[in-house]
Amino acid sequence: MAEAGTRVRVAIVGSGFGGLGAAIRLKQEGITDFVLLEPARDVGGTWRDNTYPGCECDVQSHLYSFSFEPNPEWTRSFSPQPEIQAYLQRVAKEFGILPHVRFGHEVRGAAWDDAAQLWRIDTTQGPYSTRVLVMAPGALSDPLVPDIPGLDRFEGRAFHSARWDHSFDLGGKRVAVIGTGASAIQLVPAIQPRVEKLFVFQRTPPWILPRTQRRVGERTHRVYRRFPALQRGMRGMIYLAREAFVLGFRRPRAMRLAEKIARRHLAKSIADPALRAKLTPAWTIGCKRILLSNDYYPALARPNVEVVTDRISAIHPHSIVTANGAECEVDAIVFGTGFLPTDPPLAHAIRGRDGRALTEVWAGSPKAHVGTTVVGFPNLFLLMGPNTGLGHTSVVYMIEAQVEHMIAAMRHLERTGAAALEPRPEAQAAFVDAVDRRMAGTVWTAGGCRSWYLDGTGRNSALWPDFTWRFRRRVATLDPAEYVAIPPRAAAAE
Ligand code: NAP
Repeated sequence: MAEAGTRVRVAIVGSGFGGLGAAIRLKQEGITDFVLLEPARDVGGTWRDNTYPGCECDVQSHLYSFSFEPNPEWTRSFSPQPEIQAYLQRVAKEFGILPHVRFGHEVRGAAWDDAAQLWRIDTTQGPYSTRVLVMAPGALSDPLVPDIPGLDRFEGRAFHSARWDHSFDLGGKRVAVIGTGASAIQLVPAIQPRVEKLFVFQRTPPWILPRTQRRVGERTHRVYRRFPALQRGMRGMIYLAREAFVLGFRRPRAMRLAEKIARRHLAKSIADPALRAKLTPAWTIGCKRILLSNDYYPALARPNVEVVTDRISAIHPHSIVTANGAECEVDAIVFGTGFLPTDPPLAHAIRGRDGRALTEVWAGSPKAHVGTTVVGFPNLFLLMGPNTGLGHTSVVYMIEAQVEHMIAAMRHLERTGAAALEPRPEAQAAFVDAVDRRMAGTVWTAGGCRSWYLDGTGRNSALWPDFTWRFRRRVATLDPAEYVAIPPRAAAAE
């Protein structure tokens, strides 16, 4: 039996945008019996964990923030990580969420107890039980470090971009960055001037578009403070401009203009034809996340940087060896190798009504009703669940829609007196089928690349394949006909 104080109505796992967004809405609904279980010592999720040099958001902050809490004080159009983290800390404080956060509580697993109609949660600080479980650990929170032979015998420092080792001064060192994704293209220009030598190990060259970063001064802050509608208008314009990409994702040929702009950007930045050839992608733009940067290419053109395109075959105690036998001597390795979004470790440890874990039910391809709820897992809500990710705009928009779905479910439970809700198998199957049909022929599957959007079965279980307003329209409400309402058991402990 759970100890007093550890039995709650709602348990939220994580305190990033998802966890905080859910908590705020619960409070607004008058529900205060909830906790946020957070393994770290601060809120912020990905914006707390990613502290690599140069870390910033490639979506404009007017859009990459809660719709109900615009921040007139952003100092740039694309905010650096510390500003976003400070925003989340402030929001958590001002909305009174901090007393609900159980810091240092890592969730090891959770299982639905069908007799008690509760989720039993196992945390590093002891058990919790809850009627409703909201999973918001982030889609990109489990770093992926590739299993390269010899890595365990490397005698320099090696760390992942999302676990930056600030105790190690890269100044004057020979450094390898493995990977050329969204994280690497931000950190490479930030560390290039400080290191003696930088090897950038590129497996697939990314498409990169120029970016217009603008400083936002006090005068504009004052205007936004005084006329919040102006900031909302700006947010709306950014939203619409970014949604236009969806047209191209759906018809890869329409991406040609974007490719042309990216090619010109590359040509303008890199004079050396051999390097330019190395950096030219051979797949359709949009197939992987479109990257925005003005300083990545210029950094690669600096004399202390070498772009290595040969496959890495081994790591030696002081070097990285490539398939052609070349050896790059390094003091440190930074893994910009991404995350495990379609196989998150926690999915192995969330067990539903029949005792099976999410991963067993998913069998390599995560699926959920409206990207949020799963057949066989009563009262479980996955924020940033399957097919809710985006390659072009703000995930905060998607999170808010999913939170509304969770709130609608809570209201439905309250209204009907049901103990739990679970999607009907046919409703979930119809949703997943519609997503898959929409996905067919998109740039993610037809664009000639292999991205983390595709799971082990080759299905795109990461992205929402349509306009995000369509997601919102579909998800922000709840159709009771799509759910089974499970009545309370007489014996269930309330
Ligand atoms: P990523 O996009 O998954 O990129 C990983 C990079 O590592 C790719 O270049 C990949 O090459 C390479 N790689 C992986 N395994 C490798 C191996 N064994 N050997 C050599 N190279 C290897 O990861 P990320 O850059 O951390 O970004 C992940 C996601 O985080 C992004 O897509 C985005 O959603 C989010 N993010 C967002 C921002 C933002 O500003 N909003 C910033 C950073 C990250 P291949 O391409 O060949 O697989």
